[in-house]
Amino acid sequence: MHKTYKIKIYGIVQGVGFRPFIFKLAKDLNLTGWIFNSTGSVHILVQGQEERIKLFIDNILKDPPPLSRIEKIEKERIFTEEIFNEFSIIESKEDQGFNFISPDIAVCDDCLSEMRDPRDRRYKYPFINCTNCGPRYTIILDLPYDRDKTTMKIFEMCSECEREYTDPSSRRFHAQPISCYDCGPSIWIEGERTDIFEKIADYLKDGKILAIKGIGGFHLACDATNHKTVIKLRERKKRPSKPFAIMMKDLDMIKKYCYVNEEEEKILISKERPIVLLRIKNLYDISPLVSPNNEYLGVMLPYAPYHYLIFDHFDKPIIMTSGNLSDEPIVKDNHEAKEKLKNIADIFVFHNREISHRIDDSVVFIENKEVNIIRRARGYAPEPIKIPIKIKPSLALGGELKNTFSLGKENYVFMSPHIGDLKDKDTLTAYEETINEFIRLLKIEPEILIHDLHPQYLSTDFAEKFKRYMEVKSIQHHKAHFFSLLLDREIKDEIICFSFDGTGYGEDGNIWGGEVFVGSIDKVERVGHFKYFPIAGGNYAIESPKKIAISYLIKYFPEKLEKLFPNIDPFEKEIMEKMINKGENIFYTSSCGRIFDLVSCLLKIREHIEYEGQAAIELEMTAMRSENQKYYNFRIFEENNKFVIDTYPIIEEILYEIEKKEKPDIARKFHNTISQIILVISEMLREIFKIKKIGFSGGVFQNRLLLTLTTLKLNERGFQVYTHKKVPTNDGGISLGQMILGKE
Ligand code: ZN
Ligand code: ZN
Ligand code: FE
Repeated sequence: MHKTYKIKIYGIVQGVGFRPFIFKLAKDLNLTGWIFNSTGSVHILVQGQEERIKLFIDNILKDPPPLSRIEKIEKERIFTEEIFNEFSIIESKEDQGFNFISPDIAVCDDCLSEMRDPRDRRYKYPFINCTNCGPRYTIILDLPYDRDKTTMKIFEMCSECEREYTDPSSRRFHAQPISCYDCGPSIWIEGERTDIFEKIADYLKDGKILAIKGIGGFHLACDATNHKTVIKLRERKKRPSKPFAIMMKDLDMIKKYCYVNEEEEKILISKERPIVLLRIKNLYDISPLVSPNNEYLGVMLPYAPYHYLIFDHFDKPIIMTSGNLSDEPIVKDNHEAKEKLKNIADIFVFHNREISHRIDDSVVFIENKEVNIIRRARGYAPEPIKIPIKIKPSLALGGELKNTFSLGKENYVFMSPHIGDLKDKDTLTAYEETINEFIRLLKIEPEILIHDLHPQYLSTDFAEKFKRYMEVKSIQHHKAHFFSLLLDREIKDEIICFSFDGTGYGEDGNIWGGEVFVGSIDKVERVGHFKYFPIAGGNYAIESPKKIAISYLIKYFPEKLEKLFPNIDPFEKEIMEKMINKGENIFYTSSCGRIFDLVSCLLKIREHIEYEGQAAIELEMTAMRSENQKYYNFRIFEENNKFVIDTYPIIEEILYEIEKKEKPDIARKFHNTISQIILVISEMLREIFKIKKIGFSGGVFQNRLLLTLTTLKLNERGFQVYTHKKVPTNDGGISLGQMILGKE
């Protein structure tokens, strides 16, 4: 007796070879019926023996296509007279479902071996792809994902490609970006059309800076071993010291320069293909200006087919940094590149597959065998994050620096790719555009808009405009960090969470940044913080280690000021003294990040920063050169029912040691101290609240030395430590946490 079932499968099931997989499975099991793509789901009808239908579903769950992600299967028996004689794939339909968009996938091994095969018709074809690899988010114009709704629509398939596209047994069955030499996009150097990859290599060898159009935008590329060119790139890009990412030919090349452990190797070759921060073994010929004052190098492997073709003719590491001017969004269109990068690049490499959505390379590091995402972009976004609560349709606007926003409903959050610093005008425009794109493509009309409490954030201004149309709510920055961790790790129990970062506007009007919370998804309480200290000199002072240090000395160690800053301008000194002593034009802050800046400056490691976090990063790098196990004294007292951590004794001892001890020893001892503070507070709170779960969220936990030291100590004492896995611990992750206010 034959039975008929309707099956609906939700998740990432489009553009990942799902239909041919189902088609083949049905044929193998002798089942008939049909399948079609709908919005965010596939719909299947199967007819056949009950046993075989059961096997069919088991197989779908057990062994789905590698890039798919099944979120839910619905099965319903239907009673029909209709007899189906074969299994067929029918045209896509649209309905009111959930949309999912696949991230962009690095070229797969099957495609690479075809590209290397001289007998293959796609031998050395720069845009080779299949159902398992290639661009997705960056070419999608609309959904459901079909060729005429991608930027590939202008390329009419040749008969050979058409045959593969319609053949369910082909690796390219319904591979929307399918193309070949005869029908697809092409790549060229401005003014030159032949021997492109040989010429690109020649230009690199010649010390030129190239703007190369990639998957999510333009890269600026040059020979990483050519010191003069690296200097030129730094000058032209107006980026004096922030590290550049490097693309290397293969794992062998990477292992020559860097240490690579098993987990790092796995993430380097993953389909997401991010930039991985690796410990430097020996820089050899790589210019020291690529990653100055840093023990780590940001490295990635090729991910577009044409990256491999470049390395066929060039055997050295290549700088591949975002094609933009300092903080602006990455450039994505050919004409835009000519305009914006004309003063940086000598040579332009274009192609004519349009990029519908710009996206940067992602950045990750591995610590304690776990992946930590610093920048969530290509390969990851916009894959949805499943959360353990149900939310109304909501839009969370994120923070100011390293901004991302989140759009979501029910138990899914779609976090935007890394957008950048909203203070930049073009970035703000890109931000608004991307929000509109997400709303349009994902078909989620937000009913609730959530923004950061900071009155001066541009996202707060942005939210104001919507007050008439929807419910607008705000959430404190570090509480958003707290909830971000809970949603990221699906933590339902109570947890103690350290939220340490640079700055965030506090509920009492002070600048927070060294906060301790206890709570759960339902409620959170601030139970402790670093003692407030003053910083004089307005908005920009908070970004200047020197102003922080001078402020601290005026307040607590005025007798040391002249000695540590003998060249201080008497006028500046007088003004700052006035501000601190009278309490005018100053911030009070509990920021842990700013204490790192303070120590970095006192040790004369860095007085002025050229990029966010630089002083703290260089302090960490200095500390890595010492094995010192000691820590400084600190004081914890109680005030208004909260623990307050007083840094005075720490700084007092550091000032005493400055003349006697080596910088790395002091820097290391300071790291040990922060780690010890976390341990002591954890034990105090465990005693009171009977909680063993400890969480970390906030930019300070990008500090790998601190992270490892502290995790180790806490584990030894029987704590379970939770760090971010799916979203960044820095402000790139807070839009996820803000979504808590959308809770039903
Ligand atoms: Zn492929
Ligand atoms: Zn073709
Ligand atoms: Fe933050």
